Amino acid sequence: MRELEERIARDGVVKAGNVLKVDAFLNHQCDVELFDHMGAEWARLFSGEAITKILTIEASGIGIACVAARHFASVPVVFAKKAQSINLDGEQYATTIYSYTKQKEYPVIVGARFLNKGDHVLIIDDFLANGCALEGLIELCRQAGAEVAGIGVAIEKVHQGGGDRLREQGFRVESLARIAAMDDETGEIAFA
Ligand code: 5GP
Repeated sequence: MRELEERIARDGVVKAGNVLKVDAFLNHQCDVELFDHMGAEWARLFSGEAITKILTIEASGIGIACVAARHFASVPVVFAKKAQSINLDGEQYATTIYSYTKQKEYPVIVGARFLNKGDHVLIIDDFLANGCALEGLIELCRQAGAEVAGIGVAIEKVHQGGGDRLREQGFRVESLARIAAMDDETGEIAFA
């Protein structure tokens, strides 16, 4: 998606440790019009799938997924929580994932009543690096008996291999911007 790549080239900042900072438009300050265009693109790409639910993970995924949902017919958005809370009652599906940016493990949890057998789930997230976050969401779908109809990612860092590993497992992964390499010394970003 050219618009997203141009925005990354303009406002993205490459940090040490292979981290791309996109807080000016994606995961701190949010460009809702850009989110809307991203949602339209995922709706076009997944138009052949009868999506019944969009699943994402807090916090950055929520805004992106909610705006995207406007392009799908009456599809609720469910976001996995990263911590237990008094509001998380009843049966739950849960697993543990490793955070690339925070370099630690944390739980991902959804209430069982929001993810069901028979659901055709579109998983949406902001970044795909090693694939741990998405694997956690896929595992929640597996526990629920829901089918993963597709995975929509805003930015895939192709060089980290997570996307290819998921595709090898048979998942359809559609990334709107694909980064092949980044250099934190020059600030250069090469798109795949
Ligand atoms: P993975 O689990 O695929 O290794 O990493 C995906 C998760 O880590 C995303 O949900 C995102 O929050 C975070 N992440 C991975 N790489 C980056 C990055 O370069 N920049 C930012 N801002 N977040 C990232």
